[in-house]
Amino acid sequence: MQRIVVWYRRDLRVHDHAALSQACADAREVIPVFILDPNQFAHSEVGSGRVQFLLECLADLDRSLIERGSYLTLLRGNATELLPRFIRQVGAQAVYYAADIERWSGQVRDRDLARRFADEGVVFRAFLNYYLQSEGEYERERWHAAWTAHSKQPLHMPPARIVTPLLELDETLPHFTFIPTLRDLGLPANTQTTLPGGETRARARLRDFLDHRVEAYRYAISKPAAAEDDGTSRLSPYLKFGCVSVRTCLQEARRRYLPANLGARKSLEAWVSRLRWRDHYIQKFAMYPEAEFVNLFTPFDAVRRYEDADPRLLAAWQRGETGFPLVDASMRALTRTGLLNFRMRAMLATFLTINLMIHWRHGAEWFMKHLLDGDTCIDHWQWQMQAGITQPSRAYIRAYNPLKQCHDHDPDARFIHRHVPELRDVPAPLVFEPERISPMEQTFYHVRLGHDYPFPIVDAEATRQAALKVLMPLREQLAQAERAGRLEEYRAHVAGVYPCVRVRSTEGSEQPAN
Ligand SMILES: Cc1cc2nc3c(=O)[nH]c(=O)nc-3n(C[C@H](O)[C@H](O)[C@H](O)COP(=O)(O)OP(=O)(O)OC[C@H]3O[C@@H](n4cnc5c(N)ncnc54)[C@H](O)[C@@H]3O)c2cc1C
Repeated sequence: MQRIVVWYRRDLRVHDHAALSQACADAREVIPVFILDPNQFAHSEVGSGRVQFLLECLADLDRSLIERGSYLTLLRGNATELLPRFIRQVGAQAVYYAADIERWSGQVRDRDLARRFADEGVVFRAFLNYYLQSEGEYERERWHAAWTAHSKQPLHMPPARIVTPLLELDETLPHFTFIPTLRDLGLPANTQTTLPGGETRARARLRDFLDHRVEAYRYAISKPAAAEDDGTSRLSPYLKFGCVSVRTCLQEARRRYLPANLGARKSLEAWVSRLRWRDHYIQKFAMYPEAEFVNLFTPFDAVRRYEDADPRLLAAWQRGETGFPLVDASMRALTRTGLLNFRMRAMLATFLTINLMIHWRHGAEWFMKHLLDGDTCIDHWQWQMQAGITQPSRAYIRAYNPLKQCHDHDPDARFIHRHVPELRDVPAPLVFEPERISPMEQTFYHVRLGHDYPFPIVDAEATRQAALKVLMPLREQLAQAERAGRLEEYRAHVAGVYPCVRVRSTEGSEQPAN
């Protein structure tokens, strides 16, 4: 072919990029394109921190492409309208892109484009990106085998040279001639202290983590202060935007596998299993795209209604003013830095959905707005899991006890003191239960309860018991249905009201190429 457009979406790299490598093999000229759609930034789950990170990724990608004789074309507007016009204007014969299932609207867009390009005789070809099976099928063992096999295949080498024509786009195709700022996009300034974006940083972070930090990973993973101090890889925002492929991470990890060093080996294994979980959740999300919007099982719809959320409790959770120091430290860390370790995210989620009995979607939306790694597939799935409304056959629901988490994972209160300055002078373990600080101690430790720092907004144990009373019978009802092979009956209603379930079951999908 003469010209192929490589449509970048959330695969912002040149290494191990199947679509880019294949385009360079199939065409004389390759045109890398990214489409910035300001309408997408109006979504309630988008925040300036993550968009800033995205813009840095685009700048880095542009630099890498320039080093290879190419550059990134940045269109501005709606992809469904712009891409076909762009293809006609530049006279390309094909569009290569990496499959993505993060949002249902994106899947609808890709299907529309596939139909339009088919009519126009343009090849529209999807490549595997990070989730490794087709949408239409999920069976854990088969998926795992395919995932492992795929992860061991050789990486796609970055093209040494990419021939890209100099394009003179006219006014009919809105575009940027530079990487825009948040201001150019009409977005508020970023107030988070975030990690810098881009493939170059991602690769350096991966190497640094595996060479110097991985051994302590198993210890750091649950400890919020250690995780924040780079005890975990903190690669999630880079993985979210595809600055590095999961396969690259896995192969780099395997190269460092030293059977003699037991500590490092166990940490490496734990880390690799997290990468597998990531792709597993994304694969499951591809199977159940309705998880972006609704409960997977309708019996839970009546338990917590979205519109019934108590605004006072929700605001206290969002601001990190619940009176539970580790909950508050975690929330403030998340909104300030855009990142937080898994255990503290899970604790925030169970605090909102179990202790405060607020619908998980409020939490998922808040997380997505503030997380640098906000990824609907993982986030919305995790929120339903933590809310206790998935996996009915599991006989228990985990609700993280905020006091126990302090003793177990922040015993010297390093994390609490870092993020809740009102309590900075109160030593551990007293700081774990501020409501017990006597008036005299309050003077001594420079804090006035109910004034500088709130009393607990709920009784953690009483609210947990109350939630279990409501949730457990419903879970048992579903578990019985599952044992009797009738689980789908409960999902039939979801299929009745939610179009993506119907579309999935009737339309099927094509398996992307490797
Ligand atoms: C309520 C809730 C919401 C979450 N939302 C997101 C989200 O929007 N985006 C996101 O990437 N992760 C999310 N997670 C999962 C997890 O908390 C983060 O992936 C992890 O904290 C990222 O830190 P890290 O890069 O240092 O991870 P590491 O521990 O170094 O792990 C390496 C990589 O594995 C993946 N990973 C690790 N843990 C998990 C997990 N439990 N589930 C899925 N993948 C995992 C991530 O891509 C991560 O970068 C969420 C967890 C919860 C409980």
